[in-house]
Amino acid sequence: MKYDTVIIGAGMSGLAAGIRLAHFDKKVLICERHYREGGLNSYYDRNNFKLETGLHAMTNFVPRGAPKSMPLMKILRQLKIPYDALELREQRGSSIVFPGHMLEFSNDYAEFLQSVAEQFPAEMDNLNRLDRFIVEHDATRMENGYISARKVIGEYITDPLLTDMILCPLMYYGSANERDMDLAQFVLLYRSVFHEGFCRPASNGIEHIIKLLKQRYQESGGELRLNCGISSIKSSSGKVCAVETATGEIIETDHVLSSAGAFETFSICEEKLFGEMLPLEGQLAFMESMVIPRADFDFKTDKTIVFFNNADSFDFSNPLDMCDYRSGIICFPHNFKFNMEDSPPEKMLRVSLLANSRAWHTMSKEEYAENKKTIALRAVRIAESVLGLKDDVLDGARLTDSFTPRTVTRFTGKINGAIYGSPTKYKDGRTGIDGLYLCGTDQGFLGITGAMLSGISIANTYLML
Ligand SMILES: Cc1cc2nc3c(=O)[nH]c(=O)nc-3n(C[C@H](O)[C@H](O)[C@H](O)COP(=O)(O)OP(=O)(O)OC[C@H]3O[C@@H](n4cnc5c(N)ncnc54)[C@H](O)[C@@H]3O)c2cc1C
Repeated sequence: MKYDTVIIGAGMSGLAAGIRLAHFDKKVLICERHYREGGLNSYYDRNNFKLETGLHAMTNFVPRGAPKSMPLMKILRQLKIPYDALELREQRGSSIVFPGHMLEFSNDYAEFLQSVAEQFPAEMDNLNRLDRFIVEHDATRMENGYISARKVIGEYITDPLLTDMILCPLMYYGSANERDMDLAQFVLLYRSVFHEGFCRPASNGIEHIIKLLKQRYQESGGELRLNCGISSIKSSSGKVCAVETATGEIIETDHVLSSAGAFETFSICEEKLFGEMLPLEGQLAFMESMVIPRADFDFKTDKTIVFFNNADSFDFSNPLDMCDYRSGIICFPHNFKFNMEDSPPEKMLRVSLLANSRAWHTMSKEEYAENKKTIALRAVRIAESVLGLKDDVLDGARLTDSFTPRTVTRFTGKINGAIYGSPTKYKDGRTGIDGLYLCGTDQGFLGITGAMLSGISIANTYLML
């Protein structure tokens, strides 16, 4: 049996690409190493609670009937999924908290502008000029290489504090680079986060999206194999011809589309034809701690997401310590605008901190368990202090859990647990091997929406022939 395309990975990008190909009657097989679909954005059960590994919020919210050109509408049209099927609920509002300054934003961009006007009145004209640049910039051009976003922002914004406050949520939601980010990524994320905003499917969160994608894929005729890791990509004279599974099965195919990451994909290619295309290893990883408090606990905030930085300047880099306690993300998945008939998630606190992947990967099992416990506690204490709560979130808590870069590597194969992949991106999706393409994180489109767009655009560009 020979396939037109074998897709490596049933994350957001792999599933979206699969739907496109299956819909156009291509013979397509998705191979996923894990026992469940979703990749970085999946879910698991713990003590009768459903926990999500990714989804804080979906970016790129648009209301029903929004123009077809908006990213989310494009995705839905391409995947033939009706808008209402997503059951999106908007965020209540989010904030960026730095010492002495707070910016607030919602899905109404005017609120962000108003907040900047109050905190940084002298920068308003500059922000409006930056905004015009962002609207006009074509961030999807495949041929663009890395351009420093900080450098370009510096041509408009003069106050470094405002620059850091704008960059903080965008770096946390998608920079594979330390202390800076790629301009295209900055532009896409600025639009996704500030112009369009956050939302979440009403019931069942990410599980709902995964099930929708899987259903669309399978009803279009696509095949899916779980627990099916690909251990080798075979090519002959520079042209892909087959993949080998971890159990030694050879599957013949004309094309391979890999969402596993650039480094991860190149390392399983039989022919090493990449030369200067070899990627850098991803370094930026996170630890996330979750608490479901006692049922009557009140977090005393209706914020959806709080991006915080307690240090004098914002340093988005691989920490020397196990985690960086100076900045992070606090997320409340229950703080979306749910309807009466929805069953919103349990009240929950999620705290994400930058983590030193090497340190987490190299310690013994015993040290690992101990560090996980003590650092998760510290993360919760930091969140309490940012939120002005007493140290009581954990009193009577019904569940605590956390995951580290080591967990991410274990379940998704991501090298160093670096969720935003390699700093080297392959915007045109090509690899140097004929018939082998990259999609998702290392093609350069991140997050749930970005990954789906990536899968769709690489499938449309190369695999419909
Ligand atoms: C803690 C955390 C919070 C996040 N929060 C958000 C958020 O709030 N909003 C948002 O939009 N995004 C968020 N993201 C990011 C988002 O999850 C990712 O950017 C996106 O899901 C990436 O999708 P992908 O398809 O590119 O890659 P992945 O999800 O990494 O999918 C790749 C798949 O390939 C599989 N695979 C790898 N190697 C092999 C192999 N050899 N054989 C077979 N299968 C293989 C993996 O198991 C995986 O399923 C978050 C991520 C994390 C970890």
